Amino acid sequence: MNNTSHRLVRHQFLLSALVFALALGLASGPPAAGAAAKTKIAKEKQLVLDWLSKAETVEKFGKISDRIWENAELGLQEFQSSKLLADTLEAAGFTVERGLAGMPTCFVATYGSGKPVIGLLGEFDALPMISQKGRVPKKDPVVEGAPGHGCGHNAMCTAAAAAAIAVKEAMIAHGIKGTIKVFGSPAEEIVASRPYMIRAGLFDGVDAVIDNHSSDGFGTGYGVGGNALFSTIFTFKGKTAHSAGAPWIGRSALDAVEIMDVATNFLREHLPISQRMHYVILEGGEAPNVVPDKASVWYYVRSTDEGLDDMYRRVVDCAKAGALAAGVELASMRVVSAIHQQHANKAAAELIQKNIELVGMPAWNDEEQAFAKALQKELGVEQKGMPKEVDKLEAPSGMFVGGGSSDVGDVTLIAPTATIGFPGSVPGAIGHHWSAVACFYGSTTWKGLNAGAKAIAASAIDLLTKPEELGKLRKEFEEYSKIHPYKPFLPADATPPNDLNKELMDKYRAALEKALAGK
Ligand SMILES: [Zn+2]
Repeated sequence: MNNTSHRLVRHQFLLSALVFALALGLASGPPAAGAAAKTKIAKEKQLVLDWLSKAETVEKFGKISDRIWENAELGLQEFQSSKLLADTLEAAGFTVERGLAGMPTCFVATYGSGKPVIGLLGEFDALPMISQKGRVPKKDPVVEGAPGHGCGHNAMCTAAAAAAIAVKEAMIAHGIKGTIKVFGSPAEEIVASRPYMIRAGLFDGVDAVIDNHSSDGFGTGYGVGGNALFSTIFTFKGKTAHSAGAPWIGRSALDAVEIMDVATNFLREHLPISQRMHYVILEGGEAPNVVPDKASVWYYVRSTDEGLDDMYRRVVDCAKAGALAAGVELASMRVVSAIHQQHANKAAAELIQKNIELVGMPAWNDEEQAFAKALQKELGVEQKGMPKEVDKLEAPSGMFVGGGSSDVGDVTLIAPTATIGFPGSVPGAIGHHWSAVACFYGSTTWKGLNAGAKAIAASAIDLLTKPEELGKLRKEFEEYSKIHPYKPFLPADATPPNDLNKELMDKYRAALEKALAGK
């Protein structure tokens, strides 16, 4: 933390409760008199909005988000982040089951009983290599090379937890029947939890799911989006030799990796434009003068649901070709995860949109606008500051050209699901990059996640109290499932990659803790 942002955060804590409540009330509190006059708000919904508007609620969940940001734990190493969220829900009266679906950091928190069952998704993992000080508009890592929250996942399960506790308060006060669940979902950045959670039966009986994601806007959407994906580690085994003395004795596993990579790069030309394919070499030997007997390469292979199996088969052929040409063995193909595209439910998005409009975009103060413009200047984009309006709900564009992936995709095929994108980031900040890490800490994220929690909680209240609304989601989902039934891409023998990020996280954990202690 540098002095500027340290002062900012301290300043927030020192504001009097009255001033804070007033400011946040203006920012994203319950609708002002004008809006309330137009829309009559049900008492159950008003209760969740009021509960979330309390200064202590905003501060409590803002601090949780900041702490998870500071932990910056990689997928399936989120021991502190997962515990903080699970403990918070447990202390609020939820029944929490931990270490589920073979993943130590996966949890489900449940309140209530019986139908309907409304699920909230929540993520909390960071990304490698992008450590950055919060609210500093220039590249300046907390710990050089360490992980950072460049996708805002620190605010996401936090928003879901805040929303779920608000819903619980309304359930008690107004005798609402049903169940609210928070699905603490590890490792979204390696898309590695939801297919395993579904396989373990954790989503059985869930009637509808509200997902959320940090954003620079406030909106939702529907239809098919993102790419399906295979995440696979290909490992080759050869024979060592002295690279100069007797290289003809050796068989280089690294050669197989390089030939595979050349082959896949030629393959790109003959794939549909919606495909994406990228890799990193995890192991490629340790010294040039020893022929490497072991090498491995980690691939993300992405396409549409319809195109993925064929594309993956062709990438596997490239791996076999590499092994054949180098005279080594393709020792293993470890599928870390495999997921579907997202098929977001239109009725869910329409219901969520009304609640986003009810909550409205937070009001940003001068310091927040100044930070946004300084960051935009540094990135060479238009200096337009923070967003003013919530997004409109738009029909999906007809032209699909591919993109990122999320394991929320599998959930969309087992229950009607839509995602709330909530604000906090600066328009123009780049995802999975230091500039986004800088945004997801402190004041704008506190306000953004609070607005997101309100939209989540208000939507959950609608689904718990209005059977006709839930009925619309269910009807659309059941018709869609007939033409697109859920068939997991995840192989039956795949196991959660609990080890994948361990070494990397162990390398940086102490340094991140030291930086935090020194603040
Ligand atoms: Zn993300």
